[in-house]
Amino acid sequence: MPLYEYVCGQCGAHREALRSSSLADEPIECERCGSDDSSRQLSRFCAMSAGADGGHSIAGGGCGSCAGGHCATCGSH
Ligand SMILES: [Zn+2]
Repeated sequence: MPLYEYVCGQCGAHREALRSSSLADEPIECERCGSDDSSRQLSRFCAMSAGADGGHSIAGGGCGSCAGGHCATCGSH
């Protein structure tokens, strides 16, 4: 089951969750403020993709381009 990262739209808290891919874009409750106004980030997913693809950015925890939710490096959107 893939690990997804979410950012709370209310307080900005990050959280990670193991979810099935069918639930990837569903809102998830914030552990800090309880809001479900979350947006999914792709940094961790991208890191794994980049590692499998070219072996870079694994130690960095992301490829930078993923921070805004769009990644030209790994092709995620
Ligand atoms: Zn929150």
